[in-house]
Amino acid sequence: MTDDTPKKKPSGPLAAPGRIKEISSAANLIVKDIRALAQKRHRDETGLFLVEGLKLVLDGLDAGWELGTLVVSKAALQGGSEVLTRAVSRAVGIGADVVEASAKVLEAIARRDNPQSAIGVFRRQSVPLAKIALGPGEVAVALDRVRDPGNLGTIMRTADAVGAKAVVLVGDCVDPFSLETVRATMGSIFAVPVVRAKEAEFLAWRQGFSGQIVGTHMTGAVDYRTPDYSAATLLFMGNEQAGLSAEMAASCDVLVRIPQAGRADSLNLAVATGVMLFEARRKVLTL
Ligand code: SAM
Repeated sequence: MTDDTPKKKPSGPLAAPGRIKEISSAANLIVKDIRALAQKRHRDETGLFLVEGLKLVLDGLDAGWELGTLVVSKAALQGGSEVLTRAVSRAVGIGADVVEASAKVLEAIARRDNPQSAIGVFRRQSVPLAKIALGPGEVAVALDRVRDPGNLGTIMRTADAVGAKAVVLVGDCVDPFSLETVRATMGSIFAVPVVRAKEAEFLAWRQGFSGQIVGTHMTGAVDYRTPDYSAATLLFMGNEQAGLSAEMAASCDVLVRIPQAGRADSLNLAVATGVMLFEARRKVLTL
């Protein structure tokens, strides 16, 4: 994976690594910088994003992502939490800043009551579309203008669970590094490569892609269990409201539909993606 190159040199959280600081006021400048990462503009400028919870932070470290700052609950540290103490030593050891924070500071950063006892500031990573190559039986998911952070996070978690090779975000999609998306990935943000591509870029890449593109569409004439998923497969899922655009649908080799009974017009995007991913990987996944 490559760094998501920030538009300007990072300041604040990554500027002076390796220090331990105690901060009790939410008005502190370091805290303000970290809080600002709730905004996409600030994430784009710095190339950083927030990860809540010790397990997710450790997932990120284990996956080799760069931790800039670890914010931990001072009360939990003083309460003798061994896992937290070990995490602090690990963070300092790799040169990250550590902030021992009051409950007020953690609440301000997480923007909720009862926040987790650890919050990590990580550097984003993504993969260029050109790097995506699928072998036989391998699968990746492309999403056309996905808008809902919960859907995207759930899809990334499911893609991770089935061993999908990548999640490709086509067009104007929700930010995969927003707090809500990262929360919903439950750590899979560190496991599944994320690709971002404009529509034209995707269509150009498609020309050289030798596998099949299986699009999902409410008017699809083919049952979703029909394609031969032993070929390299890119599943293409549509926007929550509008579905796949006509142009993106035309780029698919086949348009499939998941049969439904009852009154619902369609399935939720993340649910439909889950059904498709498990079907595409059915013969590969075993207990
Ligand atoms: N009104 C939209 C339409 O007509 O396309 C519904 C979009 S649906 C909520 C979001 C996406 O989930 C769809 O674009 C498709 O990718 C997938 N999807 C939902 N239900 C599906 C089904 N029964 N068969 C195939 N794909 C489905």
